Order: sequence, then structure tokens, then C-alpha cells
Amino acid sequence: MKIASLQGRSTLVSGTGLIDIESASGGEFPVQTDALIPALDELQAWLEADKPAATDPRIAADFLAEPSLLDAPLTRPRQVFALGLNYRSHANEVAMDLPKSPMIFTKFVSSLAGPGANIRLPGKSVDWEVELVAVIGQGGRDIPEHESLSRICAYCVGQDVTERNCQFENSPAQFGMAKSFANFSPIGPWLTTADELGDPQDLAIACHLDGETVQEARTSMMLFDLKTQVAYLSSICELYPGDIIFTGTPAGIGFSRNPQRFIQPGETLTSHIEQLGTLRNTFT
Ligand code: ZN
Repeated sequence: MKIASLQGRSTLVSGTGLIDIESASGGEFPVQTDALIPALDELQAWLEADKPAATDPRIAADFLAEPSLLDAPLTRPRQVFALGLNYRSHANEVAMDLPKSPMIFTKFVSSLAGPGANIRLPGKSVDWEVELVAVIGQGGRDIPEHESLSRICAYCVGQDVTERNCQFENSPAQFGMAKSFANFSPIGPWLTTADELGDPQDLAIACHLDGETVQEARTSMMLFDLKTQVAYLSSICELYPGDIIFTGTPAGIGFSRNPQRFIQPGETLTSHIEQLGTLRNTFT
């Protein structure tokens, strides 16, 4: 299933059209996508049994093509985890040692934004980081590695937008604040459930700034793979349904370029992952 948030309402997106989940199910399922996460199996069963009617496929095509018509597919996860230095190429470009265990920080929930959100630049050194975002289905503590991948119920594209001066003006650097300005965490364009995706650990991931390709890699290049991330996180923090994980960015950020390059007002950032879709964010 692909589940978008359209004007705040959970909406199934398919080639045959759009289905407003709450109204089509007569109120059996909730309006908000966050509240749907624990009920994805029931939703799938309802979809197969009831075969609800969809809107005109041309309307669906319009939404598929235009991220600004959609809201963030999740707006109130209890926890937002993010990994630093999780691609060797990125650790190399910032001249940092490879981490011995997953390097975790948070992006605060208030920074979440839709797939077509406009982002106001709070400084002159705002940078891009395209990332695969994983959504926790069944949470818990001490999830063993052989089970941990099955605890991810869905995936989407994310941008870990970062203000580098805020990040590095003190030593040691800080992450949470530099990455949590308004709209600094666009996600979407919709959730793709894990059963619909092939191997999440082998997807093409790319980012383009005003048409120029600035990041291009595959999720197979992660240092700590998805199952390791979930097992590690749950060995310390209890995971809850709907929690999200920004799983790290590959090489190509503006901070490491010579000369450095940061996002300018009027530029458009496009973030894409194979099978999951595209974010398109503008900056003012
Ligand atoms: Zn990042």
C-alpha cells in the first residue's frame, strides 16, 4: 500500500485512483496516518475484502506528480531518530572516523514537513542530506536482529536539512538544533508499506539542487544496515509504533565541496528514492 496524507486525511494512492480511508471504511479506520500505523494489517485485509471504489485515476496521477498537494505522511511520531556518518563515502568527505556503533541523534518532531514544503532559510549555510526514512510498526525493547527488519512497517523519502553554522559553531558540534528549524525534515511523498517494496537495502537514492545531481548512491552502501539500526536503537530506547528513523546520507553534501555550496533563496531541492517517490522543496 501507498498511504499519503491529503489535506490531513489518510489516503490510499494507487494507479487506479485515490481512496479516502476514513470515509471509504465508514469510520472504521482513523483520519490521521499516525493513528493508522498499528492497524496496517487490518487495513490491508479490509482493502482486499471490501475493494473500495477509488476516484478517477487522472486525479491520482495529478497527486503523484505534485508533492506540494500532499502533507507529511506522519506528523506526530513519538521519536525521530537519525544516523550520522552512516555511509562510508560521507564519513570520508567530512574527514571523520567511521563510527564503531550507529551514531544517533534526533531531529525534533516540530521540524517535520510535507514533501513539497517551502523552507525559509534561517542562515547562509543550509545544506542537503537525502535519506531513506524507515517507520516502526511493532515497537518494543531488545528486538533481536533476526526480527528487527520485520518491525519496519513502511518507508519513505526524507531530507535531513541542516544549518551547518549552527551545527559546527561550537566544539563539540551539535546536531539536534541544527537539523530542527521549521520544515527542516520534509518526508514523503507517501508511506510505502514494507510488503510492497522489494529490498529496502538496495535502492537508488539521489538528490538534485536546481537540476544538478549533488548526491547519488544506493542504500546498499550503508555502514549499519536497517536491521542493525533497529536492533541497536531498541537495545537502548523502547521503540513505539510510528517512530521514524532517518537512516543517514551518502556523499555529496554542500559543506564538503570545494568551494562549499549552500542552498540559496529561490532554489529547488529534489530528493528521490527508487520505488518510494520524490520530494520537491523550495527555499526562500
Ligand atoms: Zn543526516
